[in-house]
Amino acid sequence: MTPPQDAKPVPAAAQTPAAAGPHDAEAVSERSLVTSPSVPGNVHHAVPGNVHEPVPGNVRNAARSASDADTGSDAKADRPAHRRTPLLSVRGLSVRFRMRGGRHIAAVADADFDLAQGECLALVGESGCGKSVLASALLGLLPGNAQTAGSALLGDVDLLTADERTLARTVRGRRVGLVPQSPAAHLTPVRTVGAQLEETLRELTGTRKQDVREAARAAAERAAFPVDHLDRYPHELSGGLAQRAATALALVGDAPLLLADEPTTGLDRDLVDRTVDELRRHVDDGHALLMITHDLAAAERVADRVAVMYAGRIVELADATRFFRGTGPRHPYARGLLNALPERAFAPIPGMPPELGDLPAGCAFAARCAYATESCALRPDFADGVACHHPPAQESARA
Ligand code: SF4
Repeated sequence: MTPPQDAKPVPAAAQTPAAAGPHDAEAVSERSLVTSPSVPGNVHHAVPGNVHEPVPGNVRNAARSASDADTGSDAKADRPAHRRTPLLSVRGLSVRFRMRGGRHIAAVADADFDLAQGECLALVGESGCGKSVLASALLGLLPGNAQTAGSALLGDVDLLTADERTLARTVRGRRVGLVPQSPAAHLTPVRTVGAQLEETLRELTGTRKQDVREAARAAAERAAFPVDHLDRYPHELSGGLAQRAATALALVGDAPLLLADEPTTGLDRDLVDRTVDELRRHVDDGHALLMITHDLAAAERVADRVAVMYAGRIVELADATRFFRGTGPRHPYARGLLNALPERAFAPIPGMPPELGDLPAGCAFAARCAYATESCALRPDFADGVACHHPPAQESARA
């Protein structure tokens, strides 16, 4: 990708993926929306009077152990204070796509959350629920027919309103690292992985020429990318290797916030665990991680908190220990996600999610919900960590 003329060279870790047409959103999935290019004309529409209640304070999932959940004790006592200070503060984030014929698709609606240094928030949900669109909005990587509202403050920068020059020069790769959902599209096809790592190291860390080769090897090993493959081009890599190369590139800049969009795609279970554990070490070093995933086992392994998205909305925001190992999710959809796991009830959620362009007026989960009543014809507000008129009584998530 050619950087703007007045911009610094953009390292591979900070580059935007291959381009798509501005109206391709109508015909493509959420995934391809996310891999659409950075668009200078990204439109931001503030919503007058859009008021959001603050999200309850961040609660780290401490040791993420069953015993913690059972006893109610956790590592909060030794939780560093920096984990309570939001690095990223998202309020009322909404994204909608303007389609042909004047139609609109509301891909994300009124997302509120904070993310602290030393904390991992896992954003989970079925494909097409809006979670990757949300991440793309945070990086200014939405296509030109997207409209955003709300705010996403990273320090003094609102990621939703920052111009492309600011995002390219000071945000992507430097303040926000990205492990992309489509690493093959993210890597530069005509350069070896080693060359891309070296370029990124020189640009983001100022590594000296005589040290850069060794630094590239260390960066590769950190992401479990085999160093004897550093001279390979992206098309010579398997999906799993490309994913690990993209992870290595994302970690190079030591950005305080890392967005990992399905970082375990294409990996076998051992490599999933290894990748997730590396990401966790990154968090424990004081970085913030927003991990988008449909892999609940990976989320359980890495997350401090869990945000569950359904039909473009966050419907539950919970401490990960309580969610996975304690009393369990509160929202019926979130309970269904866990119960669908083979190691749990292996009971799929009946029905299909609604089309984002044709959402019902009331609760979007009502058609699939065993707890639905007449009151669910009204959309439930998000309150006390859940958006549900009558969340079912909680029980042990492992029961
Ligand atoms: S609001 Fe009603 S339909 Fe929606 S999840 Fe809660 S009980 Fe089910």
